[in-house]
Amino acid sequence: MSKKTVKDLDLKGKKVLMRVDFNVPLDENGNITDDTRIMASLPTINYILEHGAALILMSHLGRPKNEPDPKFSLAPVAKKLSAVLAKPVIFNDDGLVTGPETVAAAASLKPGDILLLQNTRFRVEEKKNDPGFSKELAGLGDVFVNDAFGTAHRAHASTVGVAQILPGVSGFLIQKELDFMGKALEDPARPFVAILGGAKVSDKIGVINNLLEKVDILIIGGGMAYTFLKAQGYEIGKSLLEADKIELAKELMTKAKAKGVNFLLPVDIVAAEAFAPDASFKVVGIDAIPQESMGLDIGPETGKIFTKAILSAKTVIWNGPMGVFEMPVFAKGTEAVAKAMAKSKAITIIGGGDSAAAVKILGYENGMSHISTGGGASLEFLEGKLLPGIEILQDK
Ligand code: AMP
Repeated sequence: MSKKTVKDLDLKGKKVLMRVDFNVPLDENGNITDDTRIMASLPTINYILEHGAALILMSHLGRPKNEPDPKFSLAPVAKKLSAVLAKPVIFNDDGLVTGPETVAAAASLKPGDILLLQNTRFRVEEKKNDPGFSKELAGLGDVFVNDAFGTAHRAHASTVGVAQILPGVSGFLIQKELDFMGKALEDPARPFVAILGGAKVSDKIGVINNLLEKVDILIIGGGMAYTFLKAQGYEIGKSLLEADKIELAKELMTKAKAKGVNFLLPVDIVAAEAFAPDASFKVVGIDAIPQESMGLDIGPETGKIFTKAILSAKTVIWNGPMGVFEMPVFAKGTEAVAKAMAKSKAITIIGGGDSAAAVKILGYENGMSHISTGGGASLEFLEGKLLPGIEILQDK
């Protein structure tokens, strides 16, 4: 899937309407506590401004109840953006988002100027992908750029509606997601290894199914591994179990065999007496899990086996922690995987969400080829679904 990017546009004298992901965390005083998303959008913003266009930015922030709510105003983002770009960012606290004042501001933009719209979710029409609101947004610009991967799986007015009216292309962030994740799924360098973890099998069924069609080795760890171990006949004590998914786990393992996929599960685990950071624990083989304990991490033997598999790969995708990494004593398995990926010479991709957070907390961020910015969006991408916000952009 190859989509046109900002580089395919003649930007001179244009007004560019761009969807960005400025959904940043704010503290109770409205201060931005992590500006990663703002900083990540700068390459596309600068490229557009340097090529003679004016820029109109739009984003959602948080979950306002489909009406203006000062708690979710983008005003702090406008201030921050202005500071990092060292130039004014025009911003109206416009509850209508596209009210008369904003329309006038957009009309008078000169090349190099920037206007940030108020939170698109202040309008109930945003999530409904309402054609009227889409038309109001699209009316502000000449071309559309989408650089918000995290909302690309949602067909909203600011992601899909506007692209039905204006020609749409991707920004550099979405382009990078497609270059890495798209390439891995369509034409991976082999061996291709996927590592899946996290709490629930039910959240990852689509991903497992899709990846079984593509990978050479599929590694399962985390809470979801126990349903597979149970399906293999092991007693798992009080570990996480989705009893209604045991049959499905069996089917997935049968499918792996039929496809010739090497399906790796833990061989040892860290069995804890309670779900607590100070719980007493011991490492046990999967055939010796005490009845009263719960598995909260993969064991060291498993860490070694998973590491070896990762180091044998030319492409690695990882989604979901190997254990309860939020508690340092149960973060060793997750760290082993992060470490192996950082050491590997392969193309290493973190499929967003909790594993992205874990990699950052554990300090392996710089060792990865690509860390996806999407949580839900990257899961849907790995499931092989077409993301509507990307589908609608112009093909190369
Ligand atoms: P997910 O959002 O599905 O990727 O799941 C991430 C969550 O799974 C994290 O908060 C982990 O603490 C949790 N998790 C990972 N392994 C286990 C486990 N063995 N038992 C319980 N929770 C786990």
